[in-house]
Amino acid sequence: MTQMPHSSLLGLQLPELTLLVEEFGQPAYRARQLFEALYRQRVEALEQISTLPQDFRESLSERGISIGLPGIEKKFVSSDGTVRYLVACGDGQSVETVWMPEGDGGEAGDGSEAGNQTETSGRTWERATICVSSQVGCAVDCQFCLTALLGIKRNLTAGEIVGQVCAVLNDQRVSLPLHRINLVFMGMGEPFLNYGNFMKAVHLLVEGVGIVESRMTVSTAGIVPAIYDFGLEPVRPKIAISLNAPNDELRTRLMPINRKWNLEKLMAAAREFPLRNRENLTFEYVLLDGVNDSAENAREVVELVRGLASET
Ligand code: SF4
Repeated sequence: MTQMPHSSLLGLQLPELTLLVEEFGQPAYRARQLFEALYRQRVEALEQISTLPQDFRESLSERGISIGLPGIEKKFVSSDGTVRYLVACGDGQSVETVWMPEGDGGEAGDGSEAGNQTETSGRTWERATICVSSQVGCAVDCQFCLTALLGIKRNLTAGEIVGQVCAVLNDQRVSLPLHRINLVFMGMGEPFLNYGNFMKAVHLLVEGVGIVESRMTVSTAGIVPAIYDFGLEPVRPKIAISLNAPNDELRTRLMPINRKWNLEKLMAAAREFPLRNRENLTFEYVLLDGVNDSAENAREVVELVRGLASET
C-alpha cells in the first residue's frame, strides 16, 4: 500500500480498518461503523461520526489520523451545468474532476430509466457522470492531450481517487442510491499504469460508496498486459479503448505508446477480452481535422473492429 496507512482513513478497506480499531483496543465492529461513515455517509470530519465513542474519535485525532477527504481548490461552472473541479492533493498538487449533469453524451450508464430530477447549483439534472483522475499528470504522451504536457508527477492513492468522487458527490449534494451517477475514469492519467490503486478504489466505490460497477467505465490508451489482467477481475468497470488512429504509422505518431503495444497486440487483447452479458467494448476516437478523419481512415477503422461487439 503506497498510502500512509495511519494518517488518512479514506482509502482503507474493511480489513485495514479492522487492524486499526484493534490497535486502539476497540471492538472489531467499530471498523464497520468507520467504513459506513467514510464511504456510505461520506463524512468530512471525525466529529461527524456519531456512532463512535467520543474518546475513540479523540484518540484517532491525537494520533494525527483524519478522514483525508480532499479539498476543492477551485470550481469552474459552465453554462451547460458542467462543473470542473480542481481537487487538492495533500502535497500541493491538484487534479481535475469533472461533474457532467445528464451524462456526457457518450457513456449513458446502464440504460435504465432516468431517476427523479434534482436541483443543485440552481440547475436541474436527471443523472450525472463524474470524470475521475487516476494520476497527477501522465506518462503516456498522447500528442492531442494537454495532460501529456505535464509529464507524470505521481500516482494517486486509492483514497485520493475515491476522495475525488466523495468530494464532488458532497458538493453536488448527491444522495445514493436515489440519484443515478455514472463514473468515467477518463481524467488525468492512465488508470492502468496505476492499476493497484485504481482497482482498490473501484472496490471501495462499489462496496462502500454504493455505485455499481456497471455504471463505471475506464478508458485506457492500450496498456495491453493490464487489459488482460483487467478482464479477469471479478468486479470491474466497463472498458473503453482510446484508439484514435486506424493504422500503426498514424497511431504511433499520435500515441507513441503504440510502439510498445501496436494495433495487432491491442486488437488481439480486445478480441480476447471476456465481455459480460450485454456488455460491449467501447472505442474512443478523437477526430483531428485532416489528420485521422479521412474516408480511408474510416474504412480502416471498420476493418479493424470488424467482428467485435463494440460501441464507437
Ligand atoms: S493516456 Fe489519457 S491522460 Fe495520458 S496522455 Fe493519453 S489522453 Fe492524456
